[in-house]
Parts: sequence; structure tokens; C-alpha cells
Amino acid sequence: MAKSRNKSSRRAAAVVRPTREAAEDAVRTLLRWAGDDPSREGLLDTPGRVVRAYEEHFAGYGHDPKLVLARTFEEVEGYDEMIVLTDIRFESHCEHHMAPIIGKVHIGYLPDRRVVGISKLARLVEVYAKRLQIQEKLTAQIADTLQEVLKPRGVAVVVEAAHECMTTRGVHKPGVSMVTSRMVGAFREDQMTRREFLSIVELTGRAAPPNT
Ligand SMILES: [Zn+2]
Repeated sequence: MAKSRNKSSRRAAAVVRPTREAAEDAVRTLLRWAGDDPSREGLLDTPGRVVRAYEEHFAGYGHDPKLVLARTFEEVEGYDEMIVLTDIRFESHCEHHMAPIIGKVHIGYLPDRRVVGISKLARLVEVYAKRLQIQEKLTAQIADTLQEVLKPRGVAVVVEAAHECMTTRGVHKPGVSMVTSRMVGAFREDQMTRREFLSIVELTGRAAPPNT
């Protein structure tokens, strides 16, 4: 089951990165493709800035999501109730248009002895978000990695996001957000558990001020 993930991370690792200079040249090509002149003053520093922005947008390729969760804590005073973290904001880019995907992730899990710090969950989201993504894959990767590393009794992940490839191009439908979810273990098998998680997500979603 872990095979496909290993394969894809191996594939990512095998990618030969071009030099910074080659990357900046590629940006100049796109500027010409857009119909502008990369040698005019206002655009002179643009390739360098775009390449640096890419380093930020796609920083997730340089990190192993499993290592992010490597340090877990053994059971804290026998706590075995649901742990829910809502409204983790993320910025990603769709792998079809390289356009921004902006949204939030809600994560729940039922610990089985091991728990993980809140900041680690946010960091896990970040490592997967800072890659080229489709929302369904992002949702599944977060849930599956948590399940694999923490081995809880179940994991639930809900992602709500707006896709700029839908709002600023193509069909031009602003205000549309897509919701995806992945339920594993108890969250998939037990309706009560799933309902409890979803009601927490819904409650905080309504009560919280917009965090964008
Ligand atoms: Zn897209």
C-alpha cells in the first residue's frame, strides 16, 4: 500500500533540477509568450523574483512528510478521545494550470497511544500543499500519512478550497469552493464518530471569523 507513495517520492527525487539560470531563462520565454519584452526595465528582475517565488511555493518537495511526524508522543494520561484541528489555512497550486488553490484543512483523529503536536499537523499540511497538487490527492495524502505514521484508530480529513484556475480563467466562477474528504478507520466505519467530527468542523466553521 505504501508502494505507490514510495514510487512517486522516488520519482520526484530522480528529477534533475535545471540551474537557476535555466529556470530564469524559462521565465523570459513565458514573458515573450505573453507578448511582452523581457528586456524592458520593469521586467528585468522578474525572472529572478519568479524563480524565488517558486522556491517558496514548491518548498514541499524538499521535505519528507513522514519525518515531519517522526517525533510523536506516547499516550498522554490515557487520553483516547477525538482530537480535532480545524481551519488550517493552506496555499497550494493545481497541477493542471499551476494556479493557486487556497483553502483550509480540518483534521481529526482518534489516538491509539500516540499523539502528535498541533504544529506538526499544520506542518504536514504545509509539506503536501507546497507541491503541485489536485485537491483530492492533497486530502488523501494528509490522511494516509497520518494513518501510516501515528497508527490511530481512525483519521478524518476535510479540505475546503477555492481554485483560481476556476475563478480567474476558464469558466470564471468566483465564490465556488470545493470540498473533499477522506475518512479512515473508525471515521469510515462508525457513523457516530464521523458525525461527531463533522459537527465539530461545521460548528467551528460557522463560529470562526473568516481567516483569509
Ligand atoms: Zn487547475
